[in-house]
Amino acid sequence: MLDKALTSVSKLESAYLAWKALPLASRKQTITRIQEKLLAHTEEYASAITTDMNKPLAQSIAEVKKCATLCSYYLNHIDEFLRPQPLQSNWSESYVRLDPLGVLLAVMPWNFPFWQVFRVAIPNLLLGNVLAVKHASNVPTAAALLDEIFQDETLGFPIYKNLPLASQHVEAIIAHPAIKGVTLTGSEPAGRSVAQCAGKYLKKSVLELGGSAAFIICEDADLNKAVATAVNARMQNAGQSCIAGKRILVQQSIAKAFIAAFTEKVKALKQGDKYDLTTEIGAMAREDLAIEIEEMVAQSLSEGATLLCGGKRTGAFYEPTVLTDVTPTMRVFKEETFGPVAVITTFQDFEEAIALSNQSDFGLGVTIFSQNVAFIKSQAPRFDEGAVYINEMLISDPHLPFGGIKNSGYGRELSHFGVLEFANIKTVVVK
Ligand code: NAP
Repeated sequence: MLDKALTSVSKLESAYLAWKALPLASRKQTITRIQEKLLAHTEEYASAITTDMNKPLAQSIAEVKKCATLCSYYLNHIDEFLRPQPLQSNWSESYVRLDPLGVLLAVMPWNFPFWQVFRVAIPNLLLGNVLAVKHASNVPTAAALLDEIFQDETLGFPIYKNLPLASQHVEAIIAHPAIKGVTLTGSEPAGRSVAQCAGKYLKKSVLELGGSAAFIICEDADLNKAVATAVNARMQNAGQSCIAGKRILVQQSIAKAFIAAFTEKVKALKQGDKYDLTTEIGAMAREDLAIEIEEMVAQSLSEGATLLCGGKRTGAFYEPTVLTDVTPTMRVFKEETFGPVAVITTFQDFEEAIALSNQSDFGLGVTIFSQNVAFIKSQAPRFDEGAVYINEMLISDPHLPFGGIKNSGYGRELSHFGVLEFANIKTVVVK
């Protein structure tokens, strides 16, 4: 397996030279063909995602469509992003141009098996880089399909190779001289390991790791909107999203009303057959992940949390669960709860909300619901996060940079920032 993967990387090395030599217009044609496949086979691809990791089909369809939207975004903006930028200096002419680096390794997670790959692949392919992808072991069907989708027969060479490898072989790939950069989306331990290898072999790295985002509801918030958004932010994809609202912080004065309305909506979520388009919440991706969530909840209950609904597991299915009376010392507050468990803590005033929000090793983003938008905007610098969303759940959107600080990683994806990470930012000077 490893030998085959190393050979694939060597093939990509020569393909890279041909790919980067193509005019941007030709690279755009390839991306357009990839986008056409997404639109023509949406249901087929979505069904592969659902089969691999249990995401309800409607959400898998939305994921595939979002990848097509991302293609449109970069197709529309890449000329502008790659246009050389003149800079003032003491020379007669100076400017900056963006050139590709070469073959990149992308180590990808299973929770959004298509979206995570596309948001790395599209900007980098348009820039002129090519990709070797080590996908998560539990999404083999999606990984193989992605390999097919990214082949463009008209080129005569590959620009993307799926490497079906175990994670212990990642170091050998990073060490390959053709690999010029590595990006990992995944857990903190995997991030530490990949960053260590990237340092050892002096390769540029980007890490998109876990999160434990606070979802803050102030007493002046529009309660109905806050409740509906919080349910979606926490329970989407059975809670298996890095940007899920994992710690709900609600102001004491409205806590009773919020908790009652929120719990009622969580109980009403439609469970059932993952291929039924009306199903809203399904099983988790694997039974071991559900067992881990079960253990975290049990420990937090023994530490004094209160269970309002859910709390039972059947195989990989974990009931949508609401816990209140959660304090910062409890496991469900301190660690990333990567499952359908809403964790509710109360605060007295906004100062306490900021302190609780920042009391996390992660720093991916925060949501704040309040009608006093001017005040909340003025407080944005005080949040140790990669993103502050006001009256909206955290969402990854092609127009906006996405990434974290602290143990949520480093570097950015999406928008023009996503093109810069693996670009050679080249200075050109004329005397
Ligand atoms: P994971 O267990 O870390 O796996 C992610 C990828 O890394 C998989 O391909 C995995 O391969 C590989 N991997 C695991 N350990 C490794 C190691 N020591 N060296 C090299 N590669 C290794 O994470 P996951 O369970 O798939 O995904 C969930 C995590 O991803 C959560 O923490 C979530 O918050 C985070 N995430 C972050 C973002 C973001 O943008 N910030 C987005 C989505 C998810 P195997 O499958 O073969 O083990």
